[in-house]
Amino acid sequence: MEKKRVVVIGGGIAGIQASLDLADRGYEVHIVEKSPSIGGHMAQLDKTFPTNDCSMCILSPKMISCADHANVVLHTYSELESVEGSFPDFKVTIREKARFIDTDRCTACGDCIAKCPVKVPSEFEEGLSKRKAVYLPFPQAVPRKVTIDKKHCRMLTQEKCGVCKKACQAGAVDFEQEDAIIELRASVIVLATGFDLMDAAAMPQYGYGICKDVVTSLQLERLLSASGPSNGHLRRPSDDKEPRNLGFIQCVGSRDSKARNYCSSVCCMYATKESILAREHAPDVEIAIFYMDMRATGKGFQEFVSRARDIYGVRYVRSRPAKIQPANGDSGVLMSYETRGAAGESKTEEFDLIVLCPALTPSTNNTDLAEKLDVELDGEGFFRTPDIAHPVDTTGKGILVCGFASGPIDIPDSVSQASAVAARAAELISGGER
Ligand SMILES: Cc1cc2nc3c(=O)[nH]c(=O)nc-3n(C[C@H](O)[C@H](O)[C@H](O)COP(=O)(O)OP(=O)(O)OC[C@H]3O[C@@H](n4cnc5c(N)ncnc54)[C@H](O)[C@@H]3O)c2cc1C
Repeated sequence: MEKKRVVVIGGGIAGIQASLDLADRGYEVHIVEKSPSIGGHMAQLDKTFPTNDCSMCILSPKMISCADHANVVLHTYSELESVEGSFPDFKVTIREKARFIDTDRCTACGDCIAKCPVKVPSEFEEGLSKRKAVYLPFPQAVPRKVTIDKKHCRMLTQEKCGVCKKACQAGAVDFEQEDAIIELRASVIVLATGFDLMDAAAMPQYGYGICKDVVTSLQLERLLSASGPSNGHLRRPSDDKEPRNLGFIQCVGSRDSKARNYCSSVCCMYATKESILAREHAPDVEIAIFYMDMRATGKGFQEFVSRARDIYGVRYVRSRPAKIQPANGDSGVLMSYETRGAAGESKTEEFDLIVLCPALTPSTNNTDLAEKLDVELDGEGFFRTPDIAHPVDTTGKGILVCGFASGPIDIPDSVSQASAVAARAAELISGGER
């Protein structure tokens, strides 16, 4: 009998977990991931709260299981082109963008990367280092195949260069390659498109893009990572020196009627995590977290905050920052803020490095996907889940959602939701719906 198919859109931890659970149940799963590798944001994290387990040590085996699983087909560097039909017979069209690489031949040896003369900011390293126009997004990428970025490749933009083709012993470079269109039928579609980081430069009062020593929380994750641009050494961008003090600003655009009304849910905890890690990397650094209200509602979360405060000496300041501006020329930052409570006062402090925790926003593609799939978004742009008795159902029958695509959520809850999606998909496909 032909296997029933499920298409999963988004290959972050939520999409990966849903796919593995579905594949283990015997369904044929097609993961559609827009970037060249699966992994999503979890691949960029150094450690995960509240246990500070190594993020890649948990994620990487799951990524490899996806690639090796007999029931999983990966469509990376791909997007959903169109959908017709309805549950339980969707006709799905996927566009696999040209990588200009024959992936059957590419061994990811790196010879082409070494020769490529074009350098552009690395998306994976959040712009803190450069990648080439032909690149592997990160060392543990799955699939481990390089991609030629057609926007920056000199051969594809100006018909000059071609050194990567000469360097490739495997003959894998193919400048004539075109997008591939794949059509398949599926019983269920799963949305796992995750989040984007709000552009902190849109709120100039926080100094991002104005002061060199103001970075985002994801940039700090990369700075703290042993495989990151500073090999895990805590450094500030302006002069590459270890900062003596570090301030985290919570709710940059979250819980803000001028930006995003909702709480991004994970920032109190990841700022606490990054504080502990920063102290472990640079034991003398003094750390303050400027917050509105502490949201430490998960298992072990309050204990994690207490540990940061009592053992690592992290200073939690209930306040609202007013303005962040350069301190002395290019280096350091002056921050003025107001403390909250009855004895509220205005203060100014100098920091070597400021870390912004920007709102985590729905993936920008959600609007397009919602139109193609005829499902509703909520007021913020996450996929609407109207039925509390079936919390992973969207407004479209047989179209399910998990992870950050449904709303702000951490990794353990994304994994639980992903497993719930697999169970719900099986229930719907078998006709045993309740
Ligand atoms: C700085 C920072 C630190 C964090 N630290 C922790 C932590 O320590 N512990 C913890 O539990 N949580 C942490 N989080 C939260 C964690 O990152 C999220 O809970 C988790 O990544 C959600 O997984 P996801 O798969 O839903 O989304 P994502 O990780 O965002 O993955 C979504 C995937 O979908 C792809 N995609 C998007 N749109 C499309 C489309 N239209 N077509 C195809 N593919 C698409 C994306 O490219 C991406 O690969 C942190 C978040 C931040 C910002």
